Parts: sequence; structure tokens; C-alpha cells
Amino acid sequence: MSSKKLAHHKKDAPTQNETRADRLRYFEARQEEMVEAIRELVEIESPSDNKPAGDRLGAFLAEKFRGMGGETHIHRSEAYADHLQVSFPGRGNGAPVLLLGHFDTVYPLGTLATMLCGVAGDRLHGPGVLDMKAGIVLMMQAIAGLKAWHGHLPRPVTVFLVSDEEVGSNSSRSITEGLARESSAVLVLEPAAGLRGALKTERKGVGEYTLKVVGVAAHAGLDPGKGHSAIVELAHQITAISKLNDLRSGISVNPGIIHGGTRTNVIAAEATVKIDVRIATASQKASLDRKLHSLKPHDKHCQLAITGGINRLPMERTEGVAALYEKAREIARDAAWKLEEASVGGGSDGNFTAGIGIPTLDGMGAVGEGAHALHEHILISELPRRAMLLAGMIENA
Ligand SMILES: [Zn+2]
Repeated sequence: MSSKKLAHHKKDAPTQNETRADRLRYFEARQEEMVEAIRELVEIESPSDNKPAGDRLGAFLAEKFRGMGGETHIHRSEAYADHLQVSFPGRGNGAPVLLLGHFDTVYPLGTLATMLCGVAGDRLHGPGVLDMKAGIVLMMQAIAGLKAWHGHLPRPVTVFLVSDEEVGSNSSRSITEGLARESSAVLVLEPAAGLRGALKTERKGVGEYTLKVVGVAAHAGLDPGKGHSAIVELAHQITAISKLNDLRSGISVNPGIIHGGTRTNVIAAEATVKIDVRIATASQKASLDRKLHSLKPHDKHCQLAITGGINRLPMERTEGVAALYEKAREIARDAAWKLEEASVGGGSDGNFTAGIGIPTLDGMGAVGEGAHALHEHILISELPRRAMLLAGMIENA
């Protein structure tokens, strides 16, 4: 074979490794552009509980996606910002792949004044930068890259960005599940696990309960014997609740917020505790729920009322999940990157889509640390290969 012919042959059918390396270089050349795009999103604050603020960011994102050739569909919400769906046409009649994320953050309006958005070495800091505004930019970059390489998307792509993920996704859940049902796979752009950037193939189920204790009020000085303290009763209940922890089985129960009483000289008539629960398998839901509902008062004059439940079932590592992860590992391997997987305690909307049986791969977003914390940041130099991986998964998932 002549060298000319060899060169020709190479051009027609580049090996996977060459393709991945080229693509990585494509995104490396866009690293600064990505940082600027992420900074723009971080600087439009979007707390879940502030609809006007969230809607400002939603409108900004809709405009960006329209500029990329996406067809936007706004799902109105009363209490939260409107959710944003974007459909991109692509080759073939196959089902779309769903890129799932959220544009709300846990940070109240004004946080930017003290928690600045800025670059320090390889880090980009800012509220919501990791969870998950960088993930939204990765979606845009992967879509734009695929269009640049192929002239079109290799398959239809649906982007869905919700505005209420950080507060339980009550207003978006049914839309997320509906879109997942129409898709062949779901890629969730939540942050990767840890600084090694592992994908999330298992997530715990998450729930919240509230236990309210009603006691009998009395004057602490004049009638101490007549009262039945809701606070003392709550203390007993918290001890009992803590015993439901079973870390070996992946069950954790955390009494996280307590309230109770009115004055120091009044025996408290009411006290409550809010409890966060995590489960590893769907089968643990019923027994934990039963145990919480069968708590008995220590002081017979006090009454207990428990409300709440499991909101997100666990994302279990099904065969579909494992197959998606295997594809991601192959793509990474072509770029000499040893991609890992992780099982994590936090829930996401990926729990919903995996819960209805749609193959879901989570943690496809940025690499960094400090989600929901003052030091939240992403690693800038990780952005190019995350974009490369996402583009590869859109083609192959
Ligand atoms: Zn998130």
C-alpha cells in the first residue's frame, strides 16, 4: 500500500483513538470559552425559592439554546421558575437521548456579593458553579461540538432543565419522567463524584419525615407536676429514631432540625423534628416507613404524629445503567483516561428516571468540590474531557 493510499485510508476511517484525541483537542481549545459561559450562568443567581430570579436565568438559557438551533418548550410552574425543555433534531428515527439537569441553586439571592465567582489557579469558584451550572455549559458544548463535526446531530437530543431540583423536584418530576419514557437513555449532568471525576451508577433513595409531639402545657414554676413536656418527649423520640441507623445496610436516619417550646417558664406543649432518611434499595422503603410510623410515646400524655415519606427511590445499578457506564468507560479509554464509577448517598432527578427503568448515567457533569458549601468550585482543566465524554455518549448511548 502506497503512503498516499494509506493517508487516504486514514482520513476516511480514523481510528477511535484518533477521533477522541482530536475531539479532546477541540474542547481544549474552547476551555476559556467554557469558563466564560459558566461564569455568565453563575452570575445570574437562581435560588429555587425565588421564581423571578429563576425565570431570569431560564429565559437567558432558552435564548442560548434557541441560538444553537434548539426548539424550546417552556413548562410553566406557579411556585418555582418555569422548567425549560429544548429539543434538537438529529439523524435517524431513533429515540432521543435525554440530557437532564437543573438550573436552581441552594444559595439565597445576594450570595454572590460575599461568595465571589472567580478563577483561582485551576479552580472556578462560585455559588452553584459545580451543582450544576457547569453541567449546563457542558451540554451546550457537546451539542455544538457534534454539530461542528457532523454538520448535524447524530440523533435527536432532548435537554431538560428543571428549576426545583434542590427542593425535591415536586413540580417537575412528572415532566422528567414523561421525557425519560420517550428517551433511550438519560445522561444527568450533576457533578461527578470526587476529584477523580467518577460517574454515579448508584444513588441512595432520599426521604424526609416530620415528627410532631403534642404535650401538655403548664407553668413551669406554679404547676410543674401538671405539664407533660413535648420537648422531653421529643428527646426520647430522637434517641429512638437514631437507633434506626443501619449504615452497613446503607440506611441512614438524621434528625436534622428541631423546634419546640415557647418560653423557658412554660412546659412545652409542642415540639417537632425534621428527619432526613437515606435508603440503599427500594425494598428498604416499606420497613423503614413502618418503623417510623410505629414510634410510641414514652410519656403516655404526649401524642405523636409523623408525616412525610421517601421522595426519591434509590437509583440502583441495573443492567441498563451498567451498560451505559461500560460505553462511557470505552470512550474514556480511547482517550487514555481511566474512568471510575461511584455509589453515592445523595439523590438527584436521575433517581426518578432510573426508578421507572430508563437506563440512566449520573455524575456526567463537572469535577470539583464543595457543592452547597462556601468553597464550591470546579476544576477548569477537567472541562474538555467531560465535554468530550458527553459528546461521545450522545453518539453512542
Ligand atoms: Zn444538583
